[in-house]
Amino acid sequence: MHTIEAIHAGGPEVLFPADRPRPTAAPGQLLVRVAYAGVNFIDTYRRAGLYPMAFPHIPGTEGAGVVESVGDGVDGFSTGDRVAWVDGGSSYAEYAVISADRAIRVPAEITLREAAAAALQGLTAHYLVTSTFPVGPGDDVLIHAGAGGVGLLATQMARLLGARTIITTTSTPKKAELSRQAGATNTLIYSEFEDIATDLPAAVRALTSGAGVQVVFDGVGLTTFDGSLASLATRGMMVLFGASSGPVPPFDLQRLNAGGSLYITRPSLWHYIETPAELARRACEVFTWIESGDLEIRIGDEFSLSRARQAHEALESRKTTGKVLLAVAP
Ligand code: NDP
Repeated sequence: MHTIEAIHAGGPEVLFPADRPRPTAAPGQLLVRVAYAGVNFIDTYRRAGLYPMAFPHIPGTEGAGVVESVGDGVDGFSTGDRVAWVDGGSSYAEYAVISADRAIRVPAEITLREAAAAALQGLTAHYLVTSTFPVGPGDDVLIHAGAGGVGLLATQMARLLGARTIITTTSTPKKAELSRQAGATNTLIYSEFEDIATDLPAAVRALTSGAGVQVVFDGVGLTTFDGSLASLATRGMMVLFGASSGPVPPFDLQRLNAGGSLYITRPSLWHYIETPAELARRACEVFTWIESGDLEIRIGDEFSLSRARQAHEALESRKTTGKVLLAVAP
């Protein structure tokens, strides 16, 4: 089968096409013919060697496709079933093996393209705004990278949940327009700030009668962290869920006191879909929103499998909006 491999840790240039034997489904597993693989920041972190990985490494944690064969002991799935996954391992390939108890059944109304695009970022946005900080009517929220994959979805979900003010940040006016279409009430071009640490909170407080926001969803990290913290209302929550601009250095807890008895959390999707039941419940809610038209999935960029390197380059250089997909066998 055709795959993409990172031959060693490094930049996008370490990604090469390779032909490998087709894997087989062990007990408890499904062999899936991959239709689409999702491209996510975690793929770039793994490729870059930020997490310990064995190389050569086939990237790709997310995808959607059709079950080709079923391992021993699997109940409830058959050949031909349409499934998606978010913790699959090696999705940049024509075939992937996934654990049956982590497979997400794709409803008939959802295409495999939509499923691959909505899975990881959809589940992430869902847990962030419904569980990490359950957004509700009257809440003022700040969401960074508002035109990104998680950003566009979290914005729409915050609007569905009744948030009063949804302030988003983007690097360009074009991205800001996309973010407004997703439901942002106010957009800020953070790349134009002279000093994000002071200009961002000043702008956020001007939009919230001086109070600040109840929650910041910050997947950008290094460049936004200080400004995010200073944008919070008393007893507000800082949700640091990513590091697109780099990891946040060690942090003095006393700053939470000085900021107004603030909360901080560094959540991970895996801890919010630990059980098959929680995974299925969140996926069902995301798919239901898509089916009803309440949630729009924006696929900003689609590449062929052989162009995975270009997909990584685009994601890491802030050229993308919404979801980035690899069309493997659509
Ligand atoms: P995005 O589509 O949001 O892409 C990242 C965006 O971050 C860019 O488009 C860019 O938007 C912004 N950005 C700001 N500074 C930089 C920089 N220096 N380099 C690159 N991008 C930058 O990605 P995702 O939606 O896939 O993921 C967003 C974040 O969420 C990532 O950090 C990811 O690791 C994290 N994540 C965390 C999960 C969790 O459970 N904790 C699960 C899934 C994702 P702009 O140009 O507008 O600034």
